[in-house]
Amino acid sequence: MKIHEYQAKEILRGFGVATPRGVACFTVEEAVKAAQGLGASGPWVVKAQIHAGGRGKGGGVKLARSLDEVREYADKILGMHLITPQTSPEGQLVRRLLVEQGVDIAKELYVGMVVDRSSQRVVVMASSEGGMEIEEVAARSPEKIHKVFVDPAAGLTPEEAAGLARAIGIPEASVAEAVGILRALHQAFVETDGGLAEINPLVLTGAGKVVALDAKMNFDDNALFRHPEILALRDLDEEDPAEIEASRFGLSYISLDGNIGCLVNGAGLAMATMDIIKLYGGEPANFLDVGGGATTEKVTEAFKLMLSNPKVHAILVNIFGGIMRCDVIATGVVEAARQVKLKVPLVVRLEGTNVELGKQILAESGLAIIPAAHMADAAEKVVRAAGA
Ligand code: GDP
Ligand code: MN
Repeated sequence: MKIHEYQAKEILRGFGVATPRGVACFTVEEAVKAAQGLGASGPWVVKAQIHAGGRGKGGGVKLARSLDEVREYADKILGMHLITPQTSPEGQLVRRLLVEQGVDIAKELYVGMVVDRSSQRVVVMASSEGGMEIEEVAARSPEKIHKVFVDPAAGLTPEEAAGLARAIGIPEASVAEAVGILRALHQAFVETDGGLAEINPLVLTGAGKVVALDAKMNFDDNALFRHPEILALRDLDEEDPAEIEASRFGLSYISLDGNIGCLVNGAGLAMATMDIIKLYGGEPANFLDVGGGATTEKVTEAFKLMLSNPKVHAILVNIFGGIMRCDVIATGVVEAARQVKLKVPLVVRLEGTNVELGKQILAESGLAIIPAAHMADAAEKVVRAAGA
């Protein structure tokens, strides 16, 4: 799950990370009032709050030198479709702002952390090249990204944090402050079950202070049950409506760009199904794992979801009945196809427990279902059906 910058900063402040003072706003009036409350003389920064980075380049971060400018920028940014390299080409509608006290920047740095799966540790990354896209730095000059793989028992030690701070050029007088921020960020990441925590830029101010000017935190969805206070920060406006609907029914659904809807049980089989569709020259419209214990209701919802995408020209149901019985899924497919008045071709491949009964249910349903003998057969048939 993702959250907004202002929410991430609030969490990080709770762990002792220094940030500029700021106020989240939903209207232009609120923004002007917030700026007045932050200090009469400015400057202020007006920042679009969307779940995507690269806002600065897209015109979503503006430095205002007067209250009139705060009003002007707030008016311009609220309601705009902000286009950044991380949004869709149409951009993301801005509904919230963060108005902050402006900071006198001497140097922009980068710090971030993710879980490194190969070492099974949290990897802390720091670079002197902050502000710009860190992916570019990683590609062009990887030697400028310094890493520490943190021992989970010891945590990020003061020595490791100081090593990183010095490596990215923090002057000696500010190292202790940077150590505090790095360790607080790491603690926040671990205690909230983070998937990613990033401060870009972390700035050194003219006065030698170390401040988080931006903040991004993602959380492990599977751990959210332990963090109701974080779940409460979820902003559904920023999420794909189909994916929200899917999560209500316990379906794992990801929207993709193709025209072949896929309904599969098991994440591994779903991945393999998408692969084989591509192998036969097709493009999947979604990833969809209905899980092991799918009911008729769940399968119906899955069909509705797939068909809510107007690009879907054919559907492939690929089920391996292990725990799931093929007759149950067949009944669900028939019921769902009737309920949604299915008009696109439907290819079904069933295998496993009670497969004969399942095939019989499909055959006797009177629906125009295209049966497939195996995965390759199914892929070939659905790609042809989608192209027709
Ligand atoms: P992002 O583009 O979505 O990553 O948004 P950021 O919060 O990182 O802001 C982009 C850029 O705006 C930063 O790299 C800074 O250069 C600039 N910026 C943000 N806040 C301030 C500020 O308080 N003062 C000044 N001078 N520049 C700022
Ligand atoms: Mn940034």
